[in-house]
Amino acid sequence: MKNRAIFIDRDGTINLDVHYLDDPDKFEMYPGVGEGVKKLKDSGFKVIVITNQSGIARGYFTEKQLSDIHERMKKEFQEFDVMLDGIYYCPHHPDDNCNCRKPNTGLFEKAIREHNIDVKKSYMLGDKILDVGAGKKIGARTVLVPEPNMREEILSKKKEWGYNPDYTADDFMGAVKWILRNLA
Ligand SMILES: [Mg+2]
Ligand SMILES: [Zn+2]
Repeated sequence: MKNRAIFIDRDGTINLDVHYLDDPDKFEMYPGVGEGVKKLKDSGFKVIVITNQSGIARGYFTEKQLSDIHERMKKEFQEFDVMLDGIYYCPHHPDDNCNCRKPNTGLFEKAIREHNIDVKKSYMLGDKILDVGAGKKIGARTVLVPEPNMREEILSKKKEWGYNPDYTADDFMGAVKWILRNLA
């Protein structure tokens, strides 16, 4: 049997977006994320982080720094008794035209293969429209959780979104509750 998955964006969704996060000590998880991901795991979802990290191509931080940040993230989730199933990142610059930088779907395709995922039963959860776009392209349901301090700006540009999320949540836990009420 295939697995259902939640694909989750990292910066601005799991943790405060400090723009090119380069230090584990600056990793700050949003309230409700640990509890929310725990609920998803308990409901049988694989939880997979998919993140654009062009800071590597830009020379702002190294793969080692990124790996240290992800170790910190895993540790913070462990406090909620959560093991992430996968973390996939794109290290490229937008000008590289790679197929893995969201809204492209290379990382999703890899995760779907490696975790035997049924995409029709899966969800993409992120703070940006490009997350919604990537989720739509692979055929998952999509939930937008705008970053709290960007919320008004993002919602005011609804006409320019280009992609319509299946649901726009107030916060992370709101997204989780909607997903669990609306299982595909
Ligand atoms: Mg983000
Ligand atoms: Zn890439």
